Amino acid sequence: MVQIPQEILDQAKELRAQLHAAPELSGQERETEGLLKDFLKKRTTLELVEEDGWFYGVHREGDQLPNVALRADMDAISGENGPYHGCGHDGHSAILAGAALACEGKTLGKNLFFLFQPAEETGKGAMQCREMLKKEKIQAIYGLHNLPGFPLGTVMIRAGTFACASVGITLLFQGAQSHAAYPENGRNPAFAICRLVGELSSILSPENYQGLVLATVVHLLVGEKAFGVSAGEGELSLTLRAHRSEDLALLKEKICQQAEALAQADGLTLTISYQDEFPDTTNPPQLCQRFEAALKKSGIPVSQLQEPMRWSEDFGWYLKETEGLFFGLGAGEDCPGLHTPEYEFRDELLAKGIQSLLTAVFL
Ligand SMILES: [Zn+2]
Ligand SMILES: [Zn+2]
Repeated sequence: MVQIPQEILDQAKELRAQLHAAPELSGQERETEGLLKDFLKKRTTLELVEEDGWFYGVHREGDQLPNVALRADMDAISGENGPYHGCGHDGHSAILAGAALACEGKTLGKNLFFLFQPAEETGKGAMQCREMLKKEKIQAIYGLHNLPGFPLGTVMIRAGTFACASVGITLLFQGAQSHAAYPENGRNPAFAICRLVGELSSILSPENYQGLVLATVVHLLVGEKAFGVSAGEGELSLTLRAHRSEDLALLKEKICQQAEALAQADGLTLTISYQDEFPDTTNPPQLCQRFEAALKKSGIPVSQLQEPMRWSEDFGWYLKETEGLFFGLGAGEDCPGLHTPEYEFRDELLAKGIQSLLTAVFL
């Protein structure tokens, strides 16, 4: 096993604590970025490339050598008392910075790119950063996410879909407001919206799709609490999710068609908008097998994830453009779930995180 010196682990742990104390929401990771850059400037000879709201460090050995990227996300999520690191991206960034320290002064036979990405939670960060793949001619990219509910320190891999594709969709139905005593004079969207919600289960029938699909109602608003008024406007927001991007596109199409038909029947205008779009994060099977073998050879515990994660990860954007892998790192069966108020990244994972990323570099 690649042993990571205790000194590096101590520094990564300290960095993680600093990042944890400065949580910033997606797209606002200024202080986080500053902390990471300072850390790397003081301790490494990496060439730092600054972009708008993100950056990467380059360990460059030669123009003819393979270019491999390692990526960490930096953003926090919102909680009851403001932003907090409820997804462990503080830990992911500390792992990547620790990996950079572990490579310092070494000859690897490769050029390594340490990519610190913003805004993973909204799916916008990878869309922004993927331009560096072409610019730097990256041949492979690797990234990880800590996984509560799985054995502490075990690398969880999956050939094929690792995390679902998802998208937020808002359907705005506009009719006409009228006096509540004369609803027949208006066009109230409540009926169309309720019918659409009722029809979701048949739209989701498994025989229509190749893998799992979900449509979760996240928000619904019709009219106002004004008892003299029959509502003239309403909107329904859903999060759509699927193991495969193709299924997500099909689900989107079916819901939009049905919404359109219901709107037409009631004389309503329908406006559809999308947000937080994520592709599926899908790993090439052969590379996954090689990673498994390499981990076993290094004595790092590894296990297969049976089902794709239902959540989404914007790392999928990178895998649509170049080779690479996304994998999980078990955070312990007793670890509180991601995005719960009790969650915090476990520092015990720093060593395994650095080791597994550096194992991937040599696939
Ligand atoms: Zn998250
Ligand atoms: Zn996350």
